[in-house]
Amino acid sequence: MNIATPIAHGCCDHRFEPELLHPTVSKLFMPSGVDGVYGRSGAYESVVEALAALISRHRPEAAEVFRFAPVMPRASLEKQGYLKSFPNLIGAVSTLVGSDREIARSAAKHEDGGDWTEDLRPSDLVLAPAACYPIYPIAAERGTVPDEGYVFDVAADCFRHEPSRHVDRFQSFRMREYVRIGTPAQIQAFREPWVERAKGIADVIGLTYTVEVANDPFFGRVGALMANQQREDALKFELVVPVRSAESPTACMSFNYHKEHFGEVWGLHNEAGDVLHTGCVAFGMDRLAVALFVTHGAEIAAWPASVRAALNL
Ligand code: 5GP
Ligand code: ZN
Repeated sequence: MNIATPIAHGCCDHRFEPELLHPTVSKLFMPSGVDGVYGRSGAYESVVEALAALISRHRPEAAEVFRFAPVMPRASLEKQGYLKSFPNLIGAVSTLVGSDREIARSAAKHEDGGDWTEDLRPSDLVLAPAACYPIYPIAAERGTVPDEGYVFDVAADCFRHEPSRHVDRFQSFRMREYVRIGTPAQIQAFREPWVERAKGIADVIGLTYTVEVANDPFFGRVGALMANQQREDALKFELVVPVRSAESPTACMSFNYHKEHFGEVWGLHNEAGDVLHTGCVAFGMDRLAVALFVTHGAEIAAWPASVRAALNL
């Protein structure tokens, strides 16, 4: 990128520092000037990569692998009801459009002290809020789902508009998921063992955790009812780790049963014409990495030998 003019930056402003929860955790992150968005150090990334490899070693044999862009079609998000459930978390891509002259005029507003962003127009892209969202239309596009259903291994950089200085809440973070599409019985047979498998993963990397019934942060008053129902029906479990405190532990993995939601939205069906159900197990790669550093310390070389062996570090 050609930076022709000096840009104001706020890296001397203490507000941009990630919260200090462990003397050295903050050294893993370079402030970007915006809360919840950081550059990451090599040591930190080596742990994220090691975690990804560990999770891959647990990949279901039948899983098809897809890696997605950090953006997805806006129309998909609209179609699946995200505007009703989590409108507050959306990040949408907007661009300058028009002739070169019009674009130049908009860009020039910045140097003239004006607001160039008032000329931005929404594009057909939004930032992906979850790694599994793009897979449902891809599966539906194939037509009738085979009787054995599908298992996918997906990952994406995700965005949720939740600016925070807490080191366990980023606006931009990596998510890895195993996704199951099939009958209710197939989803159940997928999700339950995954809770146990995930506990095994947390055990070998030395994390302290509990698995709890959870809910998504559905928006508004209707959302509160949806969240209650989700808990009552035990549709979401989270593996939580004391990252910031024992009193409010951090969700590092989630185990989700969406029932027929995505099946209905995208027309996922089997030979018999039944609407199929979906479920996913999601690994918050950044939260898991932060949890490891907070638990075992800043120096990877000083981590317990069993943890380093499990991660090949
Ligand atoms: P869910 O879709 O269950 O909300 O998110 C799946 C996983 O992504 C969570 O269990 C968590 O590990 C990770 N995640 C969700 N929100 C955030 C966030 O704000 N920051 C980070 N670092 N990870 C998140
Ligand atoms: Zn998912």
